Amino acid sequence: MLKGIAASEGIGIGKVMIIEEHSLDYTPRTIADTDAEIKRYQNAIEDFCKETMEQADALKKTAGKKEAEILEGHIQMAKDPMMDGEVSTLIKQNKCAEEAVDLTYSKYMEMFAQIPDEMMKQRAADIKDIKTALLSILLGINNIKISDAPAGTIIVATEVTPSMTASINKDHIVGIITETGSQTSHSAILARALEIPAVLSVEKATATISSGENVIVDGSKGIVIVGPSGNEVVEYTNKRDAFLRDKRELENYRGKPTRSADGTEYELFCNIGTPKDATKAMAADGEGVGLFRTEFLFMDRTSLPTEDEQFEAYKQAALILKEKGLIIRTLDIGGDKEIPYLGLTKEENPFMGFRAIRYCLKHRDMFKSQIKAILRASAYGDVRIMFPLITAVEELRKGKALVEEAKADLRASGIAFNEDIPVGVMMETAAAGVIADLLAKEADFFSIGTNDLTGYTMAADRGNSDVAYLYSPFQPSVLRMIESIIKNGRANNIPVGMCGEAAADPKMIPLLISMGLTEFSVSAPSVLKVRKNIAKWTKEEADKVTEKVMNMATEAEVLEYLNSILS
Ligand code: PEP
Ligand code: MG
Repeated sequence: MLKGIAASEGIGIGKVMIIEEHSLDYTPRTIADTDAEIKRYQNAIEDFCKETMEQADALKKTAGKKEAEILEGHIQMAKDPMMDGEVSTLIKQNKCAEEAVDLTYSKYMEMFAQIPDEMMKQRAADIKDIKTALLSILLGINNIKISDAPAGTIIVATEVTPSMTASINKDHIVGIITETGSQTSHSAILARALEIPAVLSVEKATATISSGENVIVDGSKGIVIVGPSGNEVVEYTNKRDAFLRDKRELENYRGKPTRSADGTEYELFCNIGTPKDATKAMAADGEGVGLFRTEFLFMDRTSLPTEDEQFEAYKQAALILKEKGLIIRTLDIGGDKEIPYLGLTKEENPFMGFRAIRYCLKHRDMFKSQIKAILRASAYGDVRIMFPLITAVEELRKGKALVEEAKADLRASGIAFNEDIPVGVMMETAAAGVIADLLAKEADFFSIGTNDLTGYTMAADRGNSDVAYLYSPFQPSVLRMIESIIKNGRANNIPVGMCGEAAADPKMIPLLISMGLTEFSVSAPSVLKVRKNIAKWTKEEADKVTEKVMNMATEAEVLEYLNSILS
């Protein structure tokens, strides 16, 4: 069994086709007629653009418009005036086109590869792809025709480039194995768009696996089985069929409202970390955003983002969501989320320390500029503000007072915002849970953050394996906390959502339906699964289950019972 990165889920069973790379070796020549050589180079660029445009058109049909943009980007890069100019200059210095392209493209590849940023590394991979294509054209090498692969083929290659992906017939290629690539590389993105199971970064795959061999690709687990036994083929065929059945079944829930079996509607939102994720949330059929973690704006940089920078990011998310709800959580740093330039002092006990709303209320200018940015974005959609880690009513009052100050500033400057922007509380500390009745009187909504609520209620750090047995949202104490938060929210007529991981757990769903949760906020890939699970329950059935669970004394009992009724 070979291991790699699980890059595109699903199971493929088929015969291997090794995609060999042709040698791109050439002998450098001294060119006398440099004008003719420049023409030869320009013809190669023209051929490249024409071929790539055809591939992009093909990819638009198989994978989608966004994926085709990767190849359209290659055309732009090949025409880049800077690189183009450098190639021509080298040819004018009597180098042959092959060498001029090789030197120039290699220089830019190295430049981008050195920047420790995933996007720049991808740029380097793109330039390599273009260089390979240009050299192949100049050397007259015919590229491998993946389009000729018979049905049931599993491609094994050092790397699957976007241009190779364009010729993939998704009815014929049932799996992809490569020696390079990561979850975020273009080969992974394209494999997922084409819905072909893929395992990337399998060491020495092209040397260990031979053409024509039978192979199983488990793109969900990142496993490759070479020469599987009869039993393994049966086992994985069953797994593949179950995977496809579940996937088809889930698709039935796309575009539908989120409804319980007896017709109560729920909001099914997504958790996001960047404005780009808002697009993913929409593609996943999310009905809004229940938690926009804004830390990304403050991380991976050396100084605070300006109000304008933040405004642009929040506005971008609001525009992507159109009129759908967008809950923006103010900065939640500290604890395990460190931002070096803020100069936070090392604390004995960072999770109990100077973090999130506590830090923000002490750094009013920084906090106010974030609140103003959120307010300005509220002119572009259904934007709401949420404060993290509230433990006392004073914190909520101070936060709300700052919102009012920020509103007054904007009003005085004649800048548009939503005067009635809702201000909510993230319910994620034991203290907040205990005073839910008091907070509910002053907050416009609650969102339960079970990730932290579990830790703070159980006084157990999830990262500490010695106390991990305590860290469970199914502990009776955490369940009571959740019940009380929802009950107090409802009694004060405010909506109560949940944005912690537990919101997507099928075992938690009947309890939340019974307790009266109104909004579930989950990761984009969980949306359809959660919609399906909500649709299974009537209030009456959920109440029966919840009554039993809330009378149980231990987490083990709760889990055993919930697992038994779900299976
Ligand atoms: C939570 O605590 O449940 C939560 C959603 O917030 P985060 O995971 O960002 O702390
Ligand atoms: Mg939290």
